[in-house]
Amino acid sequence: MSNELVLIIEDNEKSRRLARDVLAFEGYRTVDTETAEEGIRIARKMRPAIIIMDIHLPGIDGFDALRQLRAEPETEDIPVMAVTASTMNRDREAIIKAGFDGYEPKPINVKSFLAAVHQLVAAGRLKRSHA
Ligand code: MN
Repeated sequence: MSNELVLIIEDNEKSRRLARDVLAFEGYRTVDTETAEEGIRIARKMRPAIIIMDIHLPGIDGFDALRQLRAEPETEDIPVMAVTASTMNRDREAIIKAGFDGYEPKPINVKSFLAAVHQLVAAGRLKRSHA
């Protein structure tokens, strides 16, 4: 089942459009923004099923944004998947250690990206149903 809301936080227009198009084609609803600050506001208000988070952003970065999301009851349960072009092992380790629910390298591999999204949406739904 899709039609769930996915929030995309990504400052690169091309990457943002690709994520949006791929998700829309799968039947997800999407909302997107270029900054984490705005993304956090949207997350509080719209409570998306999951958040796709770029790490390098113009204001606060993806790590700080994740910390803020986790610190608030309205957003703490929303699965957050990091998407970044930093593919060094230590970057990936930092991402997992920070508590992101998933990680996909950029440029995205559509098949792997969608599989990860489906999985996180399902996991989030399960978590909420047990809350
Ligand atoms: Mn970026």
